[in-house]
Amino acid sequence: MIDLHTHSLFSDGVLLPSELVRRAVIKGYEMIAITDHADASNLDFIIPRIATACAELNRRWHIKALPGIELTHIPPETFADLTVRARSLGAAIVVAHGETIVEPVHPGTNRAAIEAGVDILAHPGLITRQEAELAARNDVHLEITSRKGHSLSNGHVAKLAGAVGAKLIIDTDTHEPGDLITDDLARNVLLGAGLDHEVIAAIFQNSKELALKAFATMKK
Ligand SMILES: [Zn+2]
Ligand SMILES: [Zn+2]
Repeated sequence: MIDLHTHSLFSDGVLLPSELVRRAVIKGYEMIAITDHADASNLDFIIPRIATACAELNRRWHIKALPGIELTHIPPETFADLTVRARSLGAAIVVAHGETIVEPVHPGTNRAAIEAGVDILAHPGLITRQEAELAARNDVHLEITSRKGHSLSNGHVAKLAGAVGAKLIIDTDTHEPGDLITDDLARNVLLGAGLDHEVIAAIFQNSKELALKAFATMKK
């Protein structure tokens, strides 16, 4: 399992980064990104601390932990600037909190995040065909999620991504230990979104390629 969207107690997750990564090791994860919620207020506080913890854990445990961030409920016009700032602070993975149908995310967030070139547009809700096409061109990954609520639009996201050739990945958006999943459950979530085995293999490969690329950018 490779999971590039999780939360620690640096935002609204319940686990310290070390415990989150420890539990991921036990669950059989190969790689995990810790992507706490951030806006302009806390980006500089969170990222260097998570990066320090991840570097420490990577030296000692058989897992690759990646420092990231999830830009969340920010004004769409600030995405470009905050994405650049997040990367310069050491975020190996930049996730955008997309227009999930279960939260009042500002309209225009999906497009702004894709134009900013984030790595992952999380739970993009009722993303439009034009936005999905732009994601394909900008190499922004669209997320299929195992998280309750956000997962209600998985079928729509899967269908559009397939139609326009946008890359999909699967994440858990973990906040608590019970949210981490096995790769068997990940496969079932993807089958439930209407995807076939060939596409599912490609999705696991997308996660791996993105994670390895991100890992290569990390300060060791
Ligand atoms: Zn959260
Ligand atoms: Zn999240």
